[in-house]
Amino acid sequence: MNEEIAQLTVLQTIDHIIDTIDSQIQEEQDALDNKSAELADRETTIETLTEKIETLEKERRTLEVEIADEMVHVKNRQSKMMQVQTGREQTALLKEIEDAKKGVKEKEEKVVTIMEKVEQLTAEIEENKNLFKGETELLQEETENVKKAITAITKKKKTQEKKRETQAKKLKKQILKKYDTLRQHRNGLGVVKVVNGVCQGCFMTIPPQQYNLLLRGDQHFDCPTCQRIMYYEPVEE
Ligand SMILES: [Zn+2]
Repeated sequence: MNEEIAQLTVLQTIDHIIDTIDSQIQEEQDALDNKSAELADRETTIETLTEKIETLEKERRTLEVEIADEMVHVKNRQSKMMQVQTGREQTALLKEIEDAKKGVKEKEEKVVTIMEKVEQLTAEIEENKNLFKGETELLQEETENVKKAITAITKKKKTQEKKRETQAKKLKKQILKKYDTLRQHRNGLGVVKVVNGVCQGCFMTIPPQQYNLLLRGDQHFDCPTCQRIMYYEPVEE
C-alpha cells in the first residue's frame, strides 16, 4: 500500500475513535437533557392542576354567595306569606319560593360536584409532587454520574487527540488538509477503499481505467463522484 495512504488510514482510525467518543459524550448529555425536560413537564402539570383548582374554587365561592342570597330571598318571601291576603298572591309567592329552593338545590349539587373534582385534582397534584420529588433526587444523582462519566470519556479523548497529533505529523500538510476537509463534508470519511471497482464512500462504480491503475496499489485517486481519497487494498487469501 502507498505509504501516504497507510498513514492516512491510521489517522482515520484514530479519528473514528474520537468521533465515537464525541457521540458517547453527546448521548450522555442528551439522556440528561431528556430527563430535565421530563421534570419540567411534571412541573407544568402541577401548575396546570393548581390553576384548575383555583378556577373551581372561585366558581364554588360564587355559587355559595348566590346560594346565601337565594336563601335570604326565600326567607323574605316566606315572611311575606303571612301578610298576603288573596289566594292568587299566595300562589305566586309559593311558586317563587319553590323556584328559589329549586335553584338553591341545583347550585348545592354543583358545589358538591366541584368539591369532588377538587378532591380528585388535589390527589393528582399530590401524586405528581411526590413523583417530582423522587425524580428531582434521581436527576441530581444522574447529573453527578454523567459528570463523572463525561470526565472519564474526555480523558480517553485527550489520549486519542495526542495520538492524532503525532499521527498527523507523519503526513504532508496538503494531503492532511484535503483529508480534514473531506471528513468535514463527507460524513467523517475522507479516505476510502475501492472494492470490485466500487468506491466504498459513495458506492459508485469508478471508471475501469482508474480502477486498473488503483489495482497496482501504489497510487491513490480522488473518487470522481464523492471526491474522497480512494485506495485499493489487495484482499489477503
Ligand atoms: Zn466515492
